[in-house]
Amino acid sequence: MTPEQSSTRPGDGSPGLVLAHYQEIGLKGRNRSFFERTLASNIALQLEALPGATAKPIPGRLLVRLPDDSHTDEVIRHMSTAFGLSSFSPAIELHSPTMESIIRTALTLADKTAFDSFKVRARRGNSSFETKSIDINIAVGSAIQEHTGARVDLGSPDWTCYIELTGNRAYFYTRKIPGPGGLPVGTSGRVLTLLSGGIDSPVAAWRMARRGSSVDFVHFHGQPFADPSSARQATQLAKHLAPWTLRSRLWMIQFGDIQSEIVTSAPQELRIVLYRRMMMRISEALALREGAQALVTGECLGQVASQTLPNLTSIGEVVETLPVLRPLIGFDKLEIEATGKSIGTYEISIQPHQDCCVLFIPRQVSTAVRAVDIAQAETALDIPALVDKALANAERVDVGLRSIID
Ligand code: ATP
Ligand code: MG
Repeated sequence: MTPEQSSTRPGDGSPGLVLAHYQEIGLKGRNRSFFERTLASNIALQLEALPGATAKPIPGRLLVRLPDDSHTDEVIRHMSTAFGLSSFSPAIELHSPTMESIIRTALTLADKTAFDSFKVRARRGNSSFETKSIDINIAVGSAIQEHTGARVDLGSPDWTCYIELTGNRAYFYTRKIPGPGGLPVGTSGRVLTLLSGGIDSPVAAWRMARRGSSVDFVHFHGQPFADPSSARQATQLAKHLAPWTLRSRLWMIQFGDIQSEIVTSAPQELRIVLYRRMMMRISEALALREGAQALVTGECLGQVASQTLPNLTSIGEVVETLPVLRPLIGFDKLEIEATGKSIGTYEISIQPHQDCCVLFIPRQVSTAVRAVDIAQAETALDIPALVDKALANAERVDVGLRSIID
């Protein structure tokens, strides 16, 4: 290797380098540097356990450097959960490139793999390099063709040599690993997700994180009347999401006493909606205390009796100032399950657990509660006192990325 190169050739002990690309961030105009800095600091957090790893924005891209290339697989695993990335690639860096050194580096890369067909894709970003991309493609392509005997195929080649020129550097890579898309966590405010142990709410949380929200969680458990299995399950789910959500907290609320008050004072067909209204009130108070700007649920239109339009209206109307976001409202159950399976929450969600809402489960659930009946049932409850007590006893569990690495 020549002195001007650094690479990620596995096992040769040379510096590790990963070049990452993003799409949507590029559209953000004057906020762009905020998005880029947030993405870099999120990736730095993900790579914290790898000594010497750094993540730095360079024009239009992000560059991760490691002291050596022995952790490439780990870096790839971490970066595949970094929302905001469209793709990333282990790369070689060339300082002060010339046409000659570009060709030499491309041939070194070509020597590492056998292929019958190939293409070269050069791109000049913010670079003063004089040769046009198309001319680089032609010059490098002819040299590779001559050197290897392989043919050029611009459609679906066996091998692609990507060359990107930016500043006074050229980056070479041959693999594009898909990123998770979306926006960097921390660029779209903070939300509080009502997390049950079920299938939907972890998927809802993941979708909000994918749109750039920092996600905190609140779980209501049926103790002292139910066992701690739902709380354990919610903790497991929140920790499982940590590689995406990065810096989350989970709040545990004891809900059994409130449920037993509702059971003694209200007709059974109203119970579920009354439980949900209390969950919403407590969640809003908690969100306001902790600085979250919206509540998120896993509700989906028509999925169960509590998720009809009249019941969603009744559940949502107790939230006074914050928006209630329901990212799954228009998805089919099978689509939600498919997402849950692809992100690994589904397997956790289907473990047996005692959800607080199966406690004192009513035989009938109204699909269209009437406001007057709900108001009547709630006159028996001292709502402000119940909210205050729940909040005062809320327990905080750290489910951030550091908590699962340590
Ligand atoms: P999930 O799989 O998310 O539990 P579900 O189809 O079982 O959804 P419900 O149980 O009716 O639906 O709950 C609707 C939403 O209310 C959940 O997605 C979640 O946001 C919230 N929720 C329900 N139970 C709890 C709980 N015990 N703690 C926190 N939030 C809850
Ligand atoms: Mg549920």
